[in-house]
Amino acid sequence: MNESVFNTLNSVNCNEHTEKKNGLTYLSWAWAWAEVKKRYPTAFYTIYENPDGWNYFTDGRTCWVKTGMTIEGLELIEYLPVMDYRNASIPADKVTSFDVNKAIQRSLTKAVARHGLGLYIYAGEDLPEDAEEPKDADDPRTLKAAPPPKSAPKPPKPQSAPTQPAQFKCEACGAVLKPYISPKTNEEIPVRRHAETSMKKFGKVLCLDCIGKEKANG
Ligand SMILES: [Zn+2]
Repeated sequence: MNESVFNTLNSVNCNEHTEKKNGLTYLSWAWAWAEVKKRYPTAFYTIYENPDGWNYFTDGRTCWVKTGMTIEGLELIEYLPVMDYRNASIPADKVTSFDVNKAIQRSLTKAVARHGLGLYIYAGEDLPEDAEEPKDADDPRTLKAAPPPKSAPKPPKPQSAPTQPAQFKCEACGAVLKPYISPKTNEEIPVRRHAETSMKKFGKVLCLDCIGKEKANG
């Protein structure tokens, strides 16, 4: 993590440049990118493609995008499910290029946030997986931004090539992740999604047991 980049971007006031949709607050991508380029003209972003050259990935059930934001030589990666207006994952056979483009934009904005810009806006945001229970549009949490975090998030670990079968191991205990049934939605959570969620929340892949311990340790 480049402290100087993070501190610079994290101190930018983004409050005038957010949009609220379905109870979640989003930063405007066009504005965020302009703010980055003003300060770091060599910054660039990457929209990752799957081996077939598509700008999104799929396991046949849901889809996600992968984007990277490189500032001062440091790339931070963001994975985001392709979601509908209620922030629920769209089934793979229903995804349109419009949905994918929307996801790419949001993913890039979140990648910028990992570098510090507007991170406080996302700090209180539930993960998209949790957001499958749609938020009340009047949710008061969206009206005030969370305070800026004290430390930068850990950059995600590089992921194995998307062509390989998804196998994820818990980085704490080494257990191979298995799909599980979400107690909230009764939906089966595939290991890749679990891994991505864990990555976003904890900066590493953890099994359910270790997530429990992580939470218990505060
Ligand atoms: Zn574990």
